[in-house]
Amino acid sequence: MPTGAEVIRQVKERIEEVDPREVRDRLAGSPDGASANGGGPGERPVVIDVREQHEFEEGHIPGAVHVPRGHLESRIEGAAPDRSKPVVLYCASGNRSALAADTLERLLGYENVESMTGGITLWKDRGYDVEVPRALTPEQRSRYSRHLLLPEIGLEGQIKLLESKVLLLGAGGLGAPVALYLAAAGVGRLGVVDDDVVDVSNLQRQVIHTGSRVGEPKVDSAEQAIRDLNPDVDVRKYNTRLDASNIMEIIEGYDVIVDGVDNFPTRYLLNDATVRLAIPVVSASILGFDGQISVFKPYDGPCYRCLYPTPPPAELAPSCGANGVLGVLPGTMGLLQATEVIKLITSAGEPLVGRLLLYDALAASFTELKVRRDPECPICSRDPGEISEEEMGVFPDYEAFCAAAG
Ligand SMILES: [Zn+2]
Repeated sequence: MPTGAEVIRQVKERIEEVDPREVRDRLAGSPDGASANGGGPGERPVVIDVREQHEFEEGHIPGAVHVPRGHLESRIEGAAPDRSKPVVLYCASGNRSALAADTLERLLGYENVESMTGGITLWKDRGYDVEVPRALTPEQRSRYSRHLLLPEIGLEGQIKLLESKVLLLGAGGLGAPVALYLAAAGVGRLGVVDDDVVDVSNLQRQVIHTGSRVGEPKVDSAEQAIRDLNPDVDVRKYNTRLDASNIMEIIEGYDVIVDGVDNFPTRYLLNDATVRLAIPVVSASILGFDGQISVFKPYDGPCYRCLYPTPPPAELAPSCGANGVLGVLPGTMGLLQATEVIKLITSAGEPLVGRLLLYDALAASFTELKVRRDPECPICSRDPGEISEEEMGVFPDYEAFCAAAG
């Protein structure tokens, strides 16, 4: 039997190796290094760090994707889906990455794989840039361990969550589960806008509130629940009603907005303000046994007005009075919203942009509708700078519309 050292030597004879200088030049887009190895002129390689988690966290090549060698087969497709594209692997010294390169080539059919000689040790000795990711505390490592195990989230995604700012409009049926799960997920800042107080009739579905907090402002009750769940979350309370005079000030600086508002004037106002500031909105609504959800990402997909240039018929508008709703329905729809928020922050998966998802709880069925940007849209067909304060949230005949609904 060959010794371990012999195996590594044989593997290194089979695979391609690349010097750190060339990797650096290719990452920088330098023309010199681009075509030296037939890797397609100027094609930027996917750089993969195959070391263990703790080694990666101590410092890695900027932009490198972390796929520990022990998870190579199961995670490589997430990191480098196209087998014809150039891939550079590195480890501490160049041995583990050589073995990993051999696996990618021989077993997984990757066509253009190289292992970086000397690993990150030589890279650092040459004085090239190293990125040291923000570290988690031992408590956070434990708290978010199930996220860290997911390649689509991992340490990088968890840090994005911890640095993210999400604004919840409403601490009601939809806002309650969204707030709880986003707090649990470690979203760094949760803003909560609500001017209502907890009522006993809320407790059938607004699970963030409790019987002992009936009569308290909803923002205080929500803050209490979030703090009890996760001290990592910074809660910002807005005990107010969103209107044209305060909306720009409140929403500015947030990465994502969760729309759980229950009335159309605010929805239109929110749409127009978020298009102006290019903030994505995860919007859901519920009525009876039916829910719907979509993600409005300004200039990337349709906005709310592209879908609903005018409010829906008055009899379908839940905003003009109290309506029945199945208590668990906002839970289902709120968790779909929380899922979309996490996807937007971590760039995992395909967000519901340009798609409207309808849920029928009685039938237990989902229907997806494609929705397109309206080239004539009064808001998102224009430059953000062209939309004036006076135009925001304006749409025809709202008063008449609500009066008709009785
Ligand atoms: Zn639009």
